[in-house]
Amino acid sequence: MSSVMQKLITPMASGPAEPPRNKVTVVGVGMVGMACAVSILLRDLADELALVDVMEDKLKGEMMDLQHGSLFLKTSKIVADKDYAVTANSRIVVVTAGVRQQEGESRLNLVQRNVNIFKHIIPQIVKHSPNCTLIVVSNPVDVLTYVTWKLSGLPKHRVIGSGTNLDSARFRFLMAERLGIHATSFNGWVLGEHGDTSVPVWSGVSVAGVNLQKLNPEFGLDGDKEDWKATHKEVVDSAYEVIKLKGYTNWAIGLSVADLTESIIKNMSRIHPVSTMVKDMYGIGEEVFLSLPCVLNSNGVGSVINMTLTDAEEKDCGGGERGAGEAHTHINTPHTWENRCFLCPLSP
Ligand code: NAD
Repeated sequence: MSSVMQKLITPMASGPAEPPRNKVTVVGVGMVGMACAVSILLRDLADELALVDVMEDKLKGEMMDLQHGSLFLKTSKIVADKDYAVTANSRIVVVTAGVRQQEGESRLNLVQRNVNIFKHIIPQIVKHSPNCTLIVVSNPVDVLTYVTWKLSGLPKHRVIGSGTNLDSARFRFLMAERLGIHATSFNGWVLGEHGDTSVPVWSGVSVAGVNLQKLNPEFGLDGDKEDWKATHKEVVDSAYEVIKLKGYTNWAIGLSVADLTESIIKNMSRIHPVSTMVKDMYGIGEEVFLSLPCVLNSNGVGSVINMTLTDAEEKDCGGGERGAGEAHTHINTPHTWENRCFLCPLSP
């Protein structure tokens, strides 16, 4: 007696199905992880989405809720498990797991707790997807991207931190709003370290090819009567303000991670300010991760754009005479923070 399925469907191909080509995994299904997942789904970037978390009920609930939206999506397979086998053959793995800032808490305060979590997560990811590109989102993102690079053993071009991609998006939105134009038409870069010590490149700000420091030589500097510098302070304060208002930030970071994912999956070679290994650039002698304009393609970071920075901007970004160690005082050496070693021993 044939089943309905046997009566309805005549098989043609034999053998197992091809592995996914554009599988994306999101580790951590909290506020940020789910914003990343939904943004990636809505932009049709993945042929399979895998979710991982340690909270099994929440993980299953999020997976089911997304699967129930399948009718409205073009990602045919959505899977989830606390076992990393579910992530096998991922092309991109987005890591959002870990603790987040409480109201008024700095990103750097999270470092030790999140490093401990990463010691468990990163080897598992690489075991199941040795050819993936990793996008680190958890904070402090620059330190954790360095930690991920060390724990993963992957080449530096395949370990990326979301870095100042979000800071730059906030900057472009706020500056463009002040000028009454759309954020995409305002060209400005925030580089260096994500968060409190990020560096706006005032000398490179332009609209339609017009350099704004040529219109006003004090643009973005102290003493500028129009006080454009205040906009960067607003960028730095904005995460604290959103956390105070709603408890966490998630939508803008989720949208920005989907944008990075698109450049990599579609081999677009678009340029994004993301955290990369900057040793030997701008006079930086240490192995540290900071944001520079990076060309993202199917290799991950295909190349880095050598920006023309003023001496002051170069020093603030971590290079110049002071070097990364002084500009970023929390990174005493790549392995330590406030003289405590957070990475050794490397074993989980
Ligand atoms: P959240 O508390 O909502 O979610 C974190 C998730 O991580 C939870 O679901 C938790 O169960 C999971 N988790 C914890 N340990 C785990 C482990 N060992 N394995 C797998 N999953 C684990 O936090 P959130 O608001 O989603 O923030 C996540 C991270 O993203 C934080 O570190 C936050 O500071 C950071 N963040 C970064 C940016 C950025 O621009 N880089 C922006 C916003 C937030």
